[in-house]
Amino acid sequence: MANGLMTVSYVAAAILFILSLGGLSRQETARRGNFYGALGMAIAILATIIGAHVTGYALLVPAIVVGALVGWTLAVRVEMTQMPELVAVLHSFVGLAATLVGYASYLDPGAHFTGAEKSIHEVEIFLGVFIGAITFTGSIIAFGKLRGSISGKPLMLPARHWLNLAGILLSVYLGAVFLGAEGTAGLPALLVMTVIALLIGIHLVMGIGGADMPVVVSMLNSYSGWAAAATGFMLSNDLLIVTGALVGSSGAILSYIMCRAMNRSFVSVILGGFGTGGGTSSAAAPAGEVVAISAEDTAQLLADAKEVIIVPGYGMAVAQAQGVISEITKRLRAKGVKVRFAIHPVAGRLPGHMNVLLAEAKVPYDIVLEMDEINADFPETDAVLVVGANDIVNPSAQEDPGSPIAGMPVLEVWKAKTVVVFKRSMATGYAGVENPLFYKENTRMLFGDAKKSVDGILAHIPS
Ligand code: NDP
Repeated sequence: MANGLMTVSYVAAAILFILSLGGLSRQETARRGNFYGALGMAIAILATIIGAHVTGYALLVPAIVVGALVGWTLAVRVEMTQMPELVAVLHSFVGLAATLVGYASYLDPGAHFTGAEKSIHEVEIFLGVFIGAITFTGSIIAFGKLRGSISGKPLMLPARHWLNLAGILLSVYLGAVFLGAEGTAGLPALLVMTVIALLIGIHLVMGIGGADMPVVVSMLNSYSGWAAAATGFMLSNDLLIVTGALVGSSGAILSYIMCRAMNRSFVSVILGGFGTGGGTSSAAAPAGEVVAISAEDTAQLLADAKEVIIVPGYGMAVAQAQGVISEITKRLRAKGVKVRFAIHPVAGRLPGHMNVLLAEAKVPYDIVLEMDEINADFPETDAVLVVGANDIVNPSAQEDPGSPIAGMPVLEVWKAKTVVVFKRSMATGYAGVENPLFYKENTRMLFGDAKKSVDGILAHIPS
C-alpha cells in the first residue's frame, strides 16, 4: 500500500476513534459510537496488514484468525456481570504485547539507530516494557479479584509503600545501566527490570481492596493505553501512538470520575488498603427492626403511589430482572404513575452497567436519570424500589464518619415515604459494609431473587 494511502487510512481511523469516544459518552448515541470504533479498528488493521512494512503473512493470517475466533467466542459468551473481568483480562494482553514488542524491538537485528535516536528508542523500549509488565500482572490480579478467585481483602505487607518505591528506584538505576550499554548488552538490565515491574504490578493491585477494583480496572485501562502508545513510538506507528494516548487519557479521566463518585482520592486508591470485599463487616449490626413485605403488598403500594423511583443495582443484573421491571414501569405509567430510574455512577460492576441493561429492556431514556439529577426528588417520592442495590443506597456513607464508605455520594432513598429493598438475605454488598437502610422505619424488605419478586409484583398489576 502506498504511504500516502496508509496515512489517509490512519487519519480516518483516528477520527473514527475520536467520534467513537464522543458517541459512547451518551446512551442515545452509544450504538453509533461502537460502530465508529469497530469501523476505525477494521480500517486500522487492514491498512497496517497491507502496509509496506509487513511481510510475514504466513504467521500473521493464522494469528488473526485465532485471535478473531477467541474474541468472538468471548464476546458472545460473556455475561454483562462478567464484563469487568473480561476487560481486565484484555488489558493484560495489551500489557503483555507491549512487553514482548519491547524485547523484539531491542533484539531486532535490522535496527540501525545511532546517537540521540538510539537513546530515544531505548527509552521508549524501557518505558514500554516497564508499563507493559505492570499492566500485565496488575490486570491478571484484578481479574482474579473481580472473579473471586483471589480474595478481595487488600494485602497489607509491612512497609509496602517502601517496597514499591524501592522497586521503582531500582528500575530507574537499571534504566541508566540499560541506556549506557552497547549493542544488546543491556538485556540483563532489561530482564531484571521486567521481573521487578511484574512484581510491582502484582503488589500494587494485591494491596487494593475489592471496593476500589472498578477504579483499578479503569486505571489499568489507562496504563494499557500508555503502554500501547509507547509501543507506537517503538514501532514508529503514528496511529498506535494516537490510539494509545486516547485510551490512556480516557481511562485516566474515567478513573477520576469514578474516584469522585466514591469520594476517594486517586492517590489513596493507588496506595491501596481500602475495603474488605469479603462480604462481612466489622461494624456491629445497625439498631432497628427489619420488616418484610410481600410482592402483592408491594404491587398495592405501587398502585397507590403517584411518584415512584426505581434504583437498580448489581442484584438486578444477577437476577436479570430488567425485562419485567420494564413491563411493570409500562403498566404503572399507563395508569398515570410517574415512574423514574435513579442511576448511581458506580451501580453494578462497571460504569454504565445499569444503563445498558435498562436500554436492553427498552426502558425509555428520558426516565433514566443520573444521581445528581434525581437525588433531591426523594422526599417527594411515594415509593422507592431498590432492586438488588446495596452500597449505593447506604446512609452510613453520610451518617457514620467511621464507615469505610464515609463520604461516598449515595442515593438518598430513605428520604422517600416508603422504600422497598429487593434482596435475598441480609448480606452486605460489594464493599462489605452493613446497611442501616434495611432497619429504618419506612423500609420494607422484599426477600428473594429479584426476578421472582418482580414476577410476583407484575402478576398483581393488571395490564
Ligand atoms: P452491591 O454489590 O452493593 O449490592 C448488590 C446487592 O444485590 C447485594 O446486597 C445482594 O444481596 C443483592 N443481590 C445479589 N443477587 C441478587 C438477586 N439475584 N436477587 C436479589 N438481590 C440480589 O451493589 P450496588 O450496585 O449497590 O453497588 C455497587 C458496588 O460495586 C459498589 O460498592 C461499587 O463500588 C462496586 N463496584 C462498582 C463497579 C462499577 O464501576 N459500577 C465495578 C466494581 C465494583 P443478597 O446477597 O442478600 O441478595
